[in-house]
Amino acid sequence: MLPFARVSILGLGLIGSSIARSVRARMPTVRLTGHDADPDVRATADRLQLCDDIAESAGAAVIDADLVILCVPVGAMGALAAAFADDLPAEAIVSDVGSCKAEVARALHEALPGAVIVPAHPVAGTERSGPEAGFASLFQGRWCIVTPTPDAPEGAVERVRAFWERLGAEVETMTPEHHDRVLAITSHLPHLIAYTIVGTASDLEAVTQSEVIKYSAGGFRDFTRIAASDPTMWRDVFLTNREAVLEMLQRFSEDLSQLQRAIRWGKGDELFDLFTRTRAVRRSIVEQGQDDAAPDFGRTHG
Ligand code: NAP
Repeated sequence: MLPFARVSILGLGLIGSSIARSVRARMPTVRLTGHDADPDVRATADRLQLCDDIAESAGAAVIDADLVILCVPVGAMGALAAAFADDLPAEAIVSDVGSCKAEVARALHEALPGAVIVPAHPVAGTERSGPEAGFASLFQGRWCIVTPTPDAPEGAVERVRAFWERLGAEVETMTPEHHDRVLAITSHLPHLIAYTIVGTASDLEAVTQSEVIKYSAGGFRDFTRIAASDPTMWRDVFLTNREAVLEMLQRFSEDLSQLQRAIRWGKGDELFDLFTRTRAVRRSIVEQGQDDAAPDFGRTHG
C-alpha cells in the first residue's frame, strides 16, 4: 500500500521538482499538487507537467493533501507554513527537506500548532537549482535522514520513512540536533571552505584571474563545483545552523594551524600520516557506494 495518496510539494526547485519526478516514476497513482512563490517557476512546472495541478497559493495547494512537503530555503519555511496553516487538513502530515533540522522544526511547530510534523533531509543534491535541474533518480541509493521530535506519532514517522524508501532512498532516523552537528562537518563546512577558496583566488592580485581559471585542473576546479551552489539556500543554511557550524569551524581552524606549523617546521611525517588517513576516508566513501570509483570523478581525458 502507498504511504500517501495526495502529496503537495511547496517549492518546485531542484529538490521539489526531483520529488515530483520521482513520485511520478515510482508512485504514478499519487495525486500531485505543486506550488511555488515564483510565477515563472509555476509556469515552467506546468509546461514540464511535474504535477497534476499547480496551485496559485500555498493554501490552495494543501487543501486536500495527506502529505505536504516544504522544499524552500530553510529561512523561508516558517513564513510559508504560516501562510497555509488555516487550510491544512487536520489529518495531513507536514514534512520538509531543509538542510538544517532543529531550527526548521522549531519554526514549523510554531507556525502549525497541533499539526503532525515529521521533518526530513534527503542528503542528495547538485550545485544546480530550479525546476529544470531536478531529475527522478536524485534520491536513488542516497540517504534520507528523518528527524522527528519525541512527540511525533510513530505511525506518521513510519509513513514518511516509507515515502522516502519508495523514492529509492535509504532512511536513517536521528534527533534534529545530532543531524545538525553531523551535517555541519559533512556538508556545511565543506561548502564554507569551497566558498572561501574560490573567493580568495578571485581576490588574488599576484596571480591573475585568467591564470586561476587556466590552471584550475590542479584541484581548484573541484572546489568551484561546490562554490557554485545556490546563494540563497546556503546563506540560510549558515544563518540557521550557526552554532554547529561555528563549533566545527573552530575545530577546523585548530587543525589548519597545526598543519601550518607542520609545514613551517618541515614535519614531513606529520603531513604524510594525515594524508594517508584522508586517503582511507575516500576509499570508504567509494566502498559504501556514496561515490563513483572512477579516477578524477569519472572525467574523460584525451
Ligand atoms: P531551489 O532550486 O532554489 O528551489 C527553491 C524554490 O522554492 C524556488 O523556486 C523558490 O522560488 C521557491 N520558494 C522560495 N520561497 C518560497 C515560498 N515562501 N513559497 C513557495 N516557494 C518558495 O532550491 P533547492 O535546492 O530545491 O532547495 C530547497 C530546499 O532543499 C532547501 O531548504 C535546501 O536546504 C534543501 N536541500 C537542498 C539540497 C541541494 O543540494 N540543493 C539538498 C538537500 C536539501 P524563488 O526562486 O523565487 O526564490
